[in-house]
Amino acid sequence: MEVTQMYIYADNAATTKTSQAAIKAMNECMEDFYGNPSSLHSVGQRAAEKLLQARMDVAECLGADFKEIYFTSGGSEADNQAIISAATFGAKKGKKHIISTKIEHHAVLHTLAKLEKQGFDVTLLDVNEKGEVDPKAVEDAIREDTALVSIMYANNEIGTIEPITEIGEICERKGVIFHTDAVQAVGHVDIDVKKQKIDMLSLSAHKFHGPKGVGVLYANKKVTLTNIIEGGAQERGKRAGTENLPGIVGMAVALKDAVSNIEKSSAKVTTLRDRLIEGLSKIEHSVLNGASENRLPGNVNFCFEGIEGESLLLLLDAKGIAASSGSACTSGSLDPSHVLLAIGRPHEVAHGSLRLTIAEDITEEQIDYMVKEIKNVVDYLRSISPVWDELQRGEQKHVI
Ligand SMILES: *Cc1c(COP(=O)(O)O)cnc(C)c1O
Repeated sequence: MEVTQMYIYADNAATTKTSQAAIKAMNECMEDFYGNPSSLHSVGQRAAEKLLQARMDVAECLGADFKEIYFTSGGSEADNQAIISAATFGAKKGKKHIISTKIEHHAVLHTLAKLEKQGFDVTLLDVNEKGEVDPKAVEDAIREDTALVSIMYANNEIGTIEPITEIGEICERKGVIFHTDAVQAVGHVDIDVKKQKIDMLSLSAHKFHGPKGVGVLYANKKVTLTNIIEGGAQERGKRAGTENLPGIVGMAVALKDAVSNIEKSSAKVTTLRDRLIEGLSKIEHSVLNGASENRLPGNVNFCFEGIEGESLLLLLDAKGIAASSGSACTSGSLDPSHVLLAIGRPHEVAHGSLRLTIAEDITEEQIDYMVKEIKNVVDYLRSISPVWDELQRGEQKHVI
């Protein structure tokens, strides 16, 4: 039967399939633009021109100036550099307070934890049950000595989009530097760093069909960047190392494609996402995690009572569905997701979560197949679950 042979990749928040256009541009770059952009001869200068063009293309997609674009090895490095830079810059003026949230990616949370050990004071704001940060809470948390507000644009587990424009306005009014980890948002929702008063932004190519291992830190003039990697004078002296030109060029191509298609693709993906949400909502004792309105077009995240997320994933893989139980960085550990705990899911429920993140190439037929198979697998796992048995016999109370 045709349908059982289909393989559905529904883990686009972990990484996306590299687009053909990006692959083609990267191949061409490796064949014909192998020079070092720092070399003065014409082979190097041809590569330097390519690099400049990619920088201008990326800047245009964000509403930034090309001089504000720093190429990095990805989202994690951009997050590290943004936060360490603002902290170092603030500390010179006696400002050692940083505001962020409990639902950030570990690239942000672990960097903040390190700074805390070095004497910085970190406030991690709560979110509501949908995963939304209240702009008023950001405003209230800002102090005289606040060096940085760092709040993600959209959450990688539950897809909630944060009120970034409002937070940007508050930070500008209060004179505090504002960084956003926009790794999940870039290429999927409209972003304009100037209009939204964003001072620093992190993005990663492999989250919008570009290659892995390349990203961007956008930073405006308000903050002096601190080097994480020392060496040559690349990236205006702020990030040493010969530029990953094929990666950078592939990223620029993928970003331009994503941004020029945003309206069309987000309309299509949102419709299919809502069909998936509607189908899965019919499973009893299940709950959607995250917001229904302010949500990334491709993100679906559910908790199912009485089952383990990991078993669910393995059985779905056998049915040809690639999914995730929350964040790829935490799967493999038995700790429930910090994001699900922050939105108030109890420990036992947070273990039974399933994240499906779809891309533009998904079909209605595939959505319906996923709904059917997930229902089957959940039914099966519950039939062999001692916890579900206790819930059925009333020895434990349902929480969802
Ligand atoms: C994937 C991701 C990162 C890390 O990006 P890499 O390029 O894989 O280092 C950071 N933040 C968020 C929100 C992400 O989804």
